[in-house]
Amino acid sequence: MIDVEQLEPLAAEDEATWNTLWQKAGEAVLTQDEAQLALACLRRRTHLWIARHMPDYVADFPTCKRNPGILKARHDLYWTDHGTEGLTHEGTLAWFSSRRWPVNDPATGQPLVGPDGKPVLKLQGGSTHFVIALDGTVFYLIDLADGAWHEPKRNRDSWSVEMVNALDLHQENGEWRTWCGRYPYVESYPPVELTPPWRNTRFMQPYDARQVVANIKLKRLVMAAQPGRLAPERMSQHSDWRTDKLDCGPLWPIAEINTAAFSTTPVDELDWVKALPSAGALPGTPEPADAGAVGAREGNLADLADPVATLRDVQKRLIALGYALPRFGVDGQLGAETAAAVRAFQTDWTKAHPDDAIAVDGIPGAETEKRLAEACAEKGVSP
Ligand SMILES: [Zn+2]
Repeated sequence: MIDVEQLEPLAAEDEATWNTLWQKAGEAVLTQDEAQLALACLRRRTHLWIARHMPDYVADFPTCKRNPGILKARHDLYWTDHGTEGLTHEGTLAWFSSRRWPVNDPATGQPLVGPDGKPVLKLQGGSTHFVIALDGTVFYLIDLADGAWHEPKRNRDSWSVEMVNALDLHQENGEWRTWCGRYPYVESYPPVELTPPWRNTRFMQPYDARQVVANIKLKRLVMAAQPGRLAPERMSQHSDWRTDKLDCGPLWPIAEINTAAFSTTPVDELDWVKALPSAGALPGTPEPADAGAVGAREGNLADLADPVATLRDVQKRLIALGYALPRFGVDGQLGAETAAAVRAFQTDWTKAHPDDAIAVDGIPGAETEKRLAEACAEKGVSP
């Protein structure tokens, strides 16, 4: 549980130290000692922030949802950027806390009640090393020496950050909505239409310039604190590992972000960042949503056993079957080129196997992955 009495006396000192070192992260001039000091401050600032803004959650942090010491023993680590599919950092922090939530009966939709007459409670959601709010505030939840439950393929060897974003938007009765309710940021972050759609999603909330800057600075800070453990080829985002994930989506300039993170260019001089929206104070930040409405599609523990093949495997199979990817090749990204090749494969498969037709949608889901494997076996080619 957060020890508020221990944190309060350090608050002013932590604030000043953090501000100085965070500025230096932007200038890419942090020493290892400074970076480690910054992380210690950041951890205390996170806990104090929770104590002050979400006092009901003091008992639920530090979170229990971690793999103790698992990353301490590993050297070469991945980094995975995520987007939350929630609305607020309060809701995101609640989701990644140790709180146990009521469970609904899938048949009736009503809360399950145990033999003792009390609601059945369950630990839900995954965990993450860091969260970055829309205004660029950084929260440090899981120690860098520990693993976080953020993606089954990468829980053992990847640091993780969740970027707060509603991600998936649609219109209903003239109102913008997320999958869990009304979208409150229409004026500050107008929904952006994606052409072509991203994994069946047409509208997304843009990321804030302050989030992008904070992500670059955070990566520099972690690399300064733990030199040599990250490399450009191991910087990733969630959709690289799973074909059913939207995050971070096409509005997240991951290539530019990671190039910047490994450069020494001061963040103030990154002109492309200035073109991104920056919404100032957040408009009427909604109340923290309840757990059922926050991030249920993100980092869900139920996903732990799901063996979805990576997009890279799909691309290798497509190429082996003669569906060329001339521009981008096996890059693990579902861009227009890969989507077109998937669509061509789905069309050809359905023509050749009328009794086993599959949807022609350009999305390499589990159905398509299975047929890609079968087609490779039929033709005797291996990826
Ligand atoms: Zn994710």
